[in-house]
Amino acid sequence: MVNTANCQQLRLKRGEDRRLRAGHLWVFSNEVDVKATPLATMEPGSVVEVTDFRGKSLGCATVNPQSLICARIHAREVADLDYALILERLRRALVLRTRLFSEPFYRLAHAEGDFLPGLVVDRFGDHLTVQTTTLAMEKRKGAVRTALEELLAPKSILWDNTVALRRLEGLELSREEEGSCPDELQVPENGCLFTVSMKEGQKTGWYYDQRPNRALMQRFARGKRVLDAFCYVGGFGVNAGLAGAREVVFCDASQRALALAKANLERNAPEASCTCLEGDAFETLKRLKDAGERFDIVSIDPPAFIKRRKDHKEGLAAYRRLNVLAMSLLAEEGLLFTSSCSQLLAVDELRACASHAAAHLGLHPELVHTGFQGPDHPVHCAMPETAYLKCLVCACNKL
Ligand code: SAH
Repeated sequence: MVNTANCQQLRLKRGEDRRLRAGHLWVFSNEVDVKATPLATMEPGSVVEVTDFRGKSLGCATVNPQSLICARIHAREVADLDYALILERLRRALVLRTRLFSEPFYRLAHAEGDFLPGLVVDRFGDHLTVQTTTLAMEKRKGAVRTALEELLAPKSILWDNTVALRRLEGLELSREEEGSCPDELQVPENGCLFTVSMKEGQKTGWYYDQRPNRALMQRFARGKRVLDAFCYVGGFGVNAGLAGAREVVFCDASQRALALAKANLERNAPEASCTCLEGDAFETLKRLKDAGERFDIVSIDPPAFIKRRKDHKEGLAAYRRLNVLAMSLLAEEGLLFTSSCSQLLAVDELRACASHAAAHLGLHPELVHTGFQGPDHPVHCAMPETAYLKCLVCACNKL
């Protein structure tokens, strides 16, 4: 039990409380007054009371002295990060999802966005994939499991702890199954039904974050020739197929993902013709361009090119190159769906990539839609770090 009397303090230096008072949840190690409160000696994963330089409370956090983000606030009052708190936060997260979706397929917990630092849960009906990305949450796996059982009685939980982020917290990468995890899952989305591989899948098996942007594909795709690059199991292309696209060309580096993309298109849009191009998308797009191929709609949804601040310049250059390539494949009055899941690439920068490409190709880019991560990935308004996905739709016409 944590109470004011026995809770260790973590005191911040003068002026370092401002961001937290504005709602942010992270404390960086250089903000701590380590003379007054020796961070290095604190028990990793334990609960501390964060205070300003005068000792005034800012809330309770879990600490990890090894990590640059050395404390994460989980409550503004004095409170433990225990079963009761986790259960309450998950219950609140579930209420929001139940209001948003008619079927139990969504991201149930989006870490800080749901005031659950270090916890990500994706729900696939009776099956869950869970990621614990902080040492504090890892130590509370038991409480997380019990809370999920209490709320959802899942048939299986896949603890997919293969995210590299865990290394920053001093955690190993691992994967563990509990209950009967199926090999494949059926995921309904926007009227389509997708087969995804749970065990061999990427991320937590399915990218729920693009759902509203993929839905938009349905408004434009009827009768069109569509290129879905970085397609994974066919998200954008299958939405296009369902809406009556005449042809979908998938491109991905993963053969297994392509096989599922093809099967998913056949099931949802048996009339649409389908081609799969395996390999590096930059090379494939270049080859298509050299061959004079043109598409009415091109979607590019690459993995994050900017993972750390120091990668920004190089990553931005890659986004620029990719956007030029993709736009050069558009037929007259074509549409580009350009996505980025790099939190460190601002939406303005992605827009600039599209306008750079258009200027280079002598096209007039009309931004017809700016999309973000879906509502089951809530953004914490005081934490830009929780907003990462952008998807722009640009109509490109001759000047
Ligand atoms: N558009 C998908 C999600 C894309 S995830 C959806 O809507 O669900 C990114 C995909 O890019 C992954 O499937 C990965 O296999 C693929 N990928 C990563 N690097 C690649 C590269 N250089 N060339 C082609 N595909 C790549």
